Amino acid sequence: GFIDKNSKIYVPGHTGLVGSAIIRELQRRGFDNLLLKSIDELDLLDSKVVADFMQREKPDFIIQCAAKVGGIIANNTYPGQFFYENMRIQTNIIHNAYLAGVKRLLFLGSSCIYPKHCPQPMKEEHLLTGELEPTNRPYALAKIGGIEMCWSYNRQYGTRYLAVMPTNLYGPGDNYDLQNSHVIPGLIHKMHLAKSENRDSVELWGTGSPYREFLYSDDLARACVHLLDLEDDMYSKFVGHEDIAPLINIGCGEDQTIKELAEIVKEVVGFDGEIKWDTSKPDGTPRKLLDVSRLFSLGWKPSISLKDGIKLAYEDFLIAK
Ligand code: GDP
Repeated sequence: GFIDKNSKIYVPGHTGLVGSAIIRELQRRGFDNLLLKSIDELDLLDSKVVADFMQREKPDFIIQCAAKVGGIIANNTYPGQFFYENMRIQTNIIHNAYLAGVKRLLFLGSSCIYPKHCPQPMKEEHLLTGELEPTNRPYALAKIGGIEMCWSYNRQYGTRYLAVMPTNLYGPGDNYDLQNSHVIPGLIHKMHLAKSENRDSVELWGTGSPYREFLYSDDLARACVHLLDLEDDMYSKFVGHEDIAPLINIGCGEDQTIKELAEIVKEVVGFDGEIKWDTSKPDGTPRKLLDVSRLFSLGWKPSISLKDGIKLAYEDFLIAK
């Protein structure tokens, strides 16, 4: 690989769903010089604090996972916070990474950066080709700002920053809130409650007809470390071009309807009542499947099936609740 085992790797957001999976993967691969700071120790919204920290520590590599995230209702309820916090955190980190001479940085985004009516599967070159889904537009625009920042810093300052866009993620340490979570942890929690309370039905949101692709957080982490550690000739295929955004999608390449997902969660949790759909709740974008040919061309494939991943996530929920 490219990364020396003694290199100092900073992972902002290391306690979250993505960050914690990345830490596990880095440690599994023998990278032990990890720089980790909790939100109490380091306020990423404060540019002076981040600047001082980065100058003092001079990390070699950064995997930027710190973000304000949430499901469809949270994005709709707190649009101002989603925009402000994400813009501010990523700007502080990317700019100060450049000043500190960081060798490579991975910027974690999300598949919601692509247009609402994007051709499927969505390719990296579909960035900025159409209107965004309104329910998460503030979050998506902040993330698009982060991609542009990586790209323009690469052009102006010769940095080697890469933006990676994961599909919908789930895994240990997820947010299982009934209102503000994403669909998989939300469904796990709802079905578990319905089963525990011996109810004969459970109510889910929307029509159940949208299609979604999902990836287990450990698979995402493996993909991220794989990309960060690529030899220079491979890494350069997508970093350092004026006309190609330094952007790589991370997904499994397959999707299913929310209805089909609900059946899998129902089976894993062991709930045997009826599923009802509350169509007054939003569906969000009709489909978002990533084109993962760039990622697969760089020698990576996922290893955890949706059903196995949901089994693992349900075990995590039972411990966490
Ligand atoms: P999205 O992928 O950005 O739309 O965000 P979500 O993960 O929150 O929602 C995905 C889909 O699952 C949407 O069509 C929701 O309406 C649907 N859904 C059904 N039940 C639930 C639930 O209990 N929680 C959430 N978050 N979504 C649900």
